[in-house]
Amino acid sequence: MLMTSAETLGGDIPPRPVVAGLPRYAAGKPPAAVEGLQSYKLSSNESPLPPIAAVREAIAGFSDFNRYPDPLSSKLRAELADFLAVPAEDIVTGAGSLGALNQILATFAGQNDDGKADEVIYAWRSFEAYPISVGLAGAESVRIPVTADGRHDLDEMARAVSARTKVILLCTPNNPTGPALGAQEVEAFLNSVPANIVVVIDEAYQEFVRDDGAVNGIELYRKYPNVVVLRTFSKAHGLAGLRVGYSVSQPALTQYLRVVATPFAVSQIAEVAALTSLQNFPQVVERVQTLVDERDRVAAGLRALGWKIPDPQGNFVWLDLGAEAARFAAAAAERALSVRAFAGEGVRVSIGEPVANTRFLQLCADYTKAPTGS
Ligand SMILES: *Cc1c(COP(=O)(O)O)cnc(C)c1O
Repeated sequence: MLMTSAETLGGDIPPRPVVAGLPRYAAGKPPAAVEGLQSYKLSSNESPLPPIAAVREAIAGFSDFNRYPDPLSSKLRAELADFLAVPAEDIVTGAGSLGALNQILATFAGQNDDGKADEVIYAWRSFEAYPISVGLAGAESVRIPVTADGRHDLDEMARAVSARTKVILLCTPNNPTGPALGAQEVEAFLNSVPANIVVVIDEAYQEFVRDDGAVNGIELYRKYPNVVVLRTFSKAHGLAGLRVGYSVSQPALTQYLRVVATPFAVSQIAEVAALTSLQNFPQVVERVQTLVDERDRVAAGLRALGWKIPDPQGNFVWLDLGAEAARFAAAAAERALSVRAFAGEGVRVSIGEPVANTRFLQLCADYTKAPTGS
């Protein structure tokens, strides 16, 4: 007798205990259709612009899909080495910087021989993927609340270090709140934590930063053997769909990362796209600047409305709406805008096409007049 899939998937094979307790990654939803309105997705911090023309041309004729990619992404790493002025040996690629992060966690944090979990400290709220990646690695999350203006509380994070701490994640600019970490505060932090703790500086939005005092992870990696910098082609380069990211660290760490790295994580087509985008970086910078200009326009517009927002240094803004978060997201959906609500906390809105940004500002202008329902 044939069994239905419900019967065969009866939950008889339990996953590792940690899997049952993991939060689900809630990917940004596509916008709902609204009659007569073009809809816009402002929920995943994607670039609203396609990759530059040179990239589209470079991958258009690609058909070697019967071949495995170069497991070391050698061409891309050589180009990155040149671009960042670092040895190619210090770069490890991954399927997005999330892939690179998972490689770091799998290498340095997990379950100890005594059965106890290692600890990974990070700010919260921060990147939604962190608790999932840390949990999957078998380690335990230690979350230190961000300050009222959406910044890492580095003093508290340093105080949270214990004998079990193996990795600390710094997210700059912080997704979803927006501010970048300062160069001096990060350096002071690095000097205050034990040198045998791996400090990851996640710079997914580095190209959007205009804060003069902001940290540059690459400079710190040169000086600190326990620093790993994460960067990605997903945001500024507009290549989120191709999954290319990388980590940069000194050989003391890189030698182990290379052992753990998923073989063939970066496809050929992704490597060619990333390489070409990097070779035409001035064009990427031009696009990023249009988004930065839009970000600044949106931030100024919000402030003119009297909305207080943390300093946005990425391609998104954070609305600290608290209990209003879900209601605001529903109001956005009515205007065919999808935004990312974190229930009870706030709403993150990605910078998109100028019309979408203008519509978002209009929504905010109208929203302040709306009854709060309380
Ligand atoms: C978007 C994002 C990433 C990058 O993800 P990819 O895997 O490179 O697409 C990493 N860190 C943060 C904080 C992000 O917001």
